[in-house]
Amino acid sequence: MAEQQQPDLLNGNTTKKREDYLEWPEYFMAVAFLSAQRSKDPSSQVGACIVNQENKIVGIGYNGMPNGCDDDLLPWSRSADSRLNTKYPYVCHAELNAIMNKNSADVKGCTMYVALFPCNECAKLIIQAGLKEIVYLSDKYHDTLEMTASRRLLSMAGIPYRQFKPKRTKIVIDFDSINHYGMLS
Ligand SMILES: [Zn+2]
Repeated sequence: MAEQQQPDLLNGNTTKKREDYLEWPEYFMAVAFLSAQRSKDPSSQVGACIVNQENKIVGIGYNGMPNGCDDDLLPWSRSADSRLNTKYPYVCHAELNAIMNKNSADVKGCTMYVALFPCNECAKLIIQAGLKEIVYLSDKYHDTLEMTASRRLLSMAGIPYRQFKPKRTKIVIDFDSINHYGMLS
């Protein structure tokens, strides 16, 4: 069936809607990735975006030190003489921050989009918060104890997780694009 074309009221051309717009899952994963760029962690930048059943974003987070804890004084290293001198005992994961940052009463029934498969500690939070689904992009720590325990918990709790398969690998944010509409001129 031929697509219906609407006449453009301004110039008489036929104008079809854009074809390359972001689809919802791409959009939410892109929001997670944009949020990750706020992270000060030199080795791992992870973002998470929580979406309700109406496709509305209700929480965003990225990995960072707890509020009020100076991220210039806490360690960012992955290994040290003592674990106390690594980032691990201190850093808040993106999933925790996204849940805590929620702007709705709760996140029950929501979907979490997250750049990296959640660890076991985040799986506990996701389960207790009542999230209903996880969409992740990377699973690079699949074989670690943390991820194995995470999958065990999520499966028992009946929370499905699926890997996001991007149709495009690059989404460009171009602040100058607004000039095409003459808005800044
Ligand atoms: Zn985690």
